[in-house]
Amino acid sequence: ENTTVVIVGAGVAGLALGNFLLRGGIDCVVLERHGREYVERRQRAGVVDSRAVRVFREWGLADRVVGGVPFEPVLNFRIDGETRPFEYMTDDHGDGRFCPQQVLVRNLVDVFVGDGGDLRFEAEDVRLENVTGPRPRVRYRDNAGVTRTIACDFIAGCDGDRGVSRASIPEEELTRHSHEYGYAWLTVLADAPANHQSMMAIHDRGFAGQFARGPQASRFYLQCPLDTSVEEWTDDRVWEEIEARFGEPVAVKGRISSKTLVPLRSVVHDPMSHGRLYLLGDAAHIVPPMSAKGMNLALHDADVFAAAVLKQVEEQDESLLAAYSTTCLKHVWNYQAFAAWFTDLMHDAGDASYHGHFRRHLARAEFDRLYSSATANHLFTEFLTGLN
Ligand code: FAD
Repeated sequence: ENTTVVIVGAGVAGLALGNFLLRGGIDCVVLERHGREYVERRQRAGVVDSRAVRVFREWGLADRVVGGVPFEPVLNFRIDGETRPFEYMTDDHGDGRFCPQQVLVRNLVDVFVGDGGDLRFEAEDVRLENVTGPRPRVRYRDNAGVTRTIACDFIAGCDGDRGVSRASIPEEELTRHSHEYGYAWLTVLADAPANHQSMMAIHDRGFAGQFARGPQASRFYLQCPLDTSVEEWTDDRVWEEIEARFGEPVAVKGRISSKTLVPLRSVVHDPMSHGRLYLLGDAAHIVPPMSAKGMNLALHDADVFAAAVLKQVEEQDESLLAAYSTTCLKHVWNYQAFAAWFTDLMHDAGDASYHGHFRRHLARAEFDRLYSSATANHLFTEFLTGLN
């Protein structure tokens, strides 16, 4: 078999890229290890920022991919039990959406398959061959157990942090920059309707967040130490901490359907390409979830890469492909800087056990500035919307 681009992984990065290439008339095949149902159910991120919505619009996909998704332009913070809605001091806060990742993924799959895209689920044992040669190959076992090989011009590694793509690059070719924040999130999915799309609390006991996941459910996040275990967090303890950190009772303490621990960290791999293999999204970089930028960085990479492939195929001009890694890394580091600042602001702010009261006072001062200085407010808004 032959195609122009083989895309490994049908997450946000891979599916967005597949759709962009299809719109540009470029052949591609998407290989995904899991089944369709699994991919469409995986719940994670929730914010598609303004930049990403604009990208979908430029590719002519916004209506079908994020159309009808509500936008609530208010960020609600609760500081030591006091509600402080964040008001944008600029009209240009764009049109980002609260769009659960699984809704975005489902829409991207529907549009891609509906437009005749070649998406192969349950592709096992994917192997990349000859990535530094002129015509790489991707070998895999299909859902009938038959081994297949696809020759291509480019491979897009969109298979996340633990995928096969980055692992195919010799270690000495990549530099890994990483930072551990020193705390984790307990993420809890519960049948508890939220009063707001989002609420984030800074408190002495640590950060707490609540994000609506449809009308009847919420995802809660609770800052906790790295050495804790899920077993230590009984349902009663979870509700107790949520009420303490928000400083108000939870109206409906419904069934808790999942609890997971996520250590907060930042990772960047440099460069984001090797031969004819290009890394996109989590395969290349991880941002802490507090920043809500993971999915948006993946979409940025997909946009830059699709435009570069189009330029090469249509004009035999490799310049954008050659600049792909540099272009993306500049953007990634800018948002890593934002993510690190915002993460520390929200977490150090309340919990003396990590960094002491000095950091808490600094964080309060920085937080107040967002409400009193139009300049600080504008900059924060630029990062939230992805337009910095
Ligand atoms: P993924 O969405 O991970 O997609 C990778 C795909 O590749 C998957 O479908 C996987 O099955 C497939 N794959 C893997 N290995 C192979 C293989 N060998 N062969 C074929 N296919 C393979 N971001 C936010 O912005 N806000 C949040 O609140 C947030 N919360 C998160 C919570 C958790 C628990 C996690 C893990 C992440 C969270 N993120 C959040 C990050 C966000 O979900 C990711 O940044 C985003 O999914 C990146 O998209 P991606 O396409 O690069 O990777």
